[in-house]
Amino acid sequence: MDCLFCKIIAGDIPCKKVYEDDNMLAFHDIAPEAPVHVLVIPKCHIGSMDEVNEANSGVVAKIFEKIPEIAKMAGVKNGYRLISNCGPDAGQSVMHLHFHIIGGTELPLHVFPDQE
Ligand code: 5GP
Ligand code: ZN
Repeated sequence: MDCLFCKIIAGDIPCKKVYEDDNMLAFHDIAPEAPVHVLVIPKCHIGSMDEVNEANSGVVAKIFEKIPEIAKMAGVKNGYRLISNCGPDAGQSVMHLHFHIIGGTELPLHVFPDQE
């Protein structure tokens, strides 16, 4: 399968690893949008949140259990935002489920910058 994140999992494309176990890999985003910007991905290929189902949600639960620890490992001290872009309107650019952990600074509150 021609999937960028599956290639990172396979070790064919290098990454700056934060955490890894049998279920997931966490690594620094190549184009960070904040002082902390880590991606957490399942090792099995799930295309997006739209493809989470009864058969594969166990690995998503494992990821969620680990995210607080991964955030700390990445240097988060004062909170973080967890984002999963799903589909075209959200701007999903890699079709392998991933969770952005974003933090290390105070983040803008709104999706649209001109919102009060
Ligand atoms: P999306 O836009 O799909 O929610 O997020 C994809 C993320 O993957 C982007 O933030 C982008 O910077 C990151 N990314 C794309 N290619 C690579 C890569 O080869 N290595 C790493 N570490 N991050 C990548
Ligand atoms: Zn994949």
